[in-house]
Amino acid sequence: MINVKPNIFNRILEKFKALDYTGYSEQYPPFASWKKVSKINKTVEKAWRKSLKTTDKINLFVNIPFCAHKCAFCFLPVICVGEKREQIDRFIEKYFSALSKEAQFYSKIFKGCEFSTLYVGGGTPSLLSVSQINKFFDLLKKNFSFRKNLQTTVEMYPQNINKNIVEAFRKNGTNRVCIGVQSLDQKVLTGIQRRQDIKEVKKAFNILRELGISKINIDLICGLPWQTQESFIKDLKSTIKLKPDQIHINAFMNTPYTIYSIKGGKQPDYKKIESIRKKSFDILKSIGYIKVDSDSMGLTPKSKNFQTADLWDKKSLLGIGLGAISRAYGEIRSINTITWKDYCDAPKNGRIPLERISQMTLEDEMIFYVLEKAANFGYIDLNEFEKLFNKKFENIFDEEFKVLEKFGAKRKKEKLIIPHKLRNDLRRLFYKLPIIAQGLRNSKLKPEFLKKF
Ligand code: SF4
Repeated sequence: MINVKPNIFNRILEKFKALDYTGYSEQYPPFASWKKVSKINKTVEKAWRKSLKTTDKINLFVNIPFCAHKCAFCFLPVICVGEKREQIDRFIEKYFSALSKEAQFYSKIFKGCEFSTLYVGGGTPSLLSVSQINKFFDLLKKNFSFRKNLQTTVEMYPQNINKNIVEAFRKNGTNRVCIGVQSLDQKVLTGIQRRQDIKEVKKAFNILRELGISKINIDLICGLPWQTQESFIKDLKSTIKLKPDQIHINAFMNTPYTIYSIKGGKQPDYKKIESIRKKSFDILKSIGYIKVDSDSMGLTPKSKNFQTADLWDKKSLLGIGLGAISRAYGEIRSINTITWKDYCDAPKNGRIPLERISQMTLEDEMIFYVLEKAANFGYIDLNEFEKLFNKKFENIFDEEFKVLEKFGAKRKKEKLIIPHKLRNDLRRLFYKLPIIAQGLRNSKLKPEFLKKF
C-alpha cells in the first residue's frame, strides 16, 4: 500500500480524474500516468502482435471527432466545424484521408483477425452525409474483417437524425444507436449551449424505430449546471416514456477541459449527483430495467454496449481516429493525438498518430480487473479471477487481501465484497508507486506533493 494519508491520496485521485478525457469510469494505470514514447510504430506493432496471441476478443472503435458546436459541459476533444456543409465536408474529406492511412497500418497487424464489435463514436458521426457514410464503411471493410452478427453501434445527435442518414447507416450494418440527449430541460440546454427539445428527440427516436433500429440507447447527464433533482427526474420520466432499450446516466464531470470550467463554472456537488443517480436507477429498476453496467440500465441483459461491457475480461480494443483509445490486452493502453494538425500530419511524417502510452504487465491487468470489478459490481469474483489469470487472488495479492479484510471487505463464498466506502482505499492499496509518481509529474502538481511519499 502507498504510504500516504487517505485525504492526500484522495486529492491525487481527484486530480488524476480531472485530467482524464478518455470517458472511461476506471482506468488502470490511471490516464494521468501515460507517457510519450519514441519509435512508436515499432513499439505498437510489437505490442499488438504479442497481445493478439493471448485473446481473440477484439473490438474496433472509430472516432468521428466533429461537432457543429462544443457543448459547455463536454470534456471530449472535439473539432468544431460549424453548420456550413461545405466546411464540414472539407474537414471530413481531410480526416478520411488520414484515417485511411491509420487503418492501413493496423490492417497488416490484424490480418486474419475478426472484430467482435464496431463502435462509431464522437464527436458526431451523424454529421456525415450519405455518401460519406458509405465511404467510411468501405474504408473499414477494406482494411478489417468483422464477425457475423456484429454489434455495430453509432452515436447520433438528435438534430441530425433524418431518414436518409439512418437508412445509410442501417444499410452498412448499424444495428444499435446511441442518442446523445443529455438533458430535456430548456433552461439547462440554453445554459450548456445545446440545441434540442423533446419533440426533436421523439422524432429522431421514431425515425430510428421506423427504419428497423430496435436497439436504441439514450444518454442523459446528471448534475449539469442549472439542473435540479426535480428537472433531472422529469427528464428521466420523459425518456422512459419512449421505452429505449438502454438508458445511460452519466455523472457530469467538470474537468479542466469543459467550456463551463474554463469560464469559471463551479464544481458540482458530486455526492448529490451520486444520490440523484441512485434514485434514478431505483426508478428504472422499479419498472423492470436491469443494471447492465456501472452507468446504465437496459430492458434485457443484452441491452448494452458489448464493446465497453465487461472490460475486466481478456479482451482488446483497437481505437482509430483522433483521440481514440486502444487496449492491447497484457501489453499496452494508448491514446491517439487530440490535435487536428498532428493527426492529419502523422501519415506525412511516416508515423501513426499516437500520443501517449502505458505499458502493461499481466499484474497490471490483474489490478485493472480488481478495480473495474469492484467499481462496477461491488465485489471481486475469486473464481473468475483464477479462471482468467490461472492464479489464486489470495496467493498473488496475499498482503492486500488481508488489509482489505481488515478494512471491512467481507468474503461471501467465492466473492470478496468491497463496500462502496473502500473504493479509494482499494486504489491506494493497488496503485503502484512509480505509476503515481509519473501521474503527478504529468499533472504538474507542486513538488511538495511528491515529498509526502
Ligand atoms: S456532448 Fe456530444 S455533441 Fe456536444 S460537444 Fe461533446 S461530443 Fe459534441
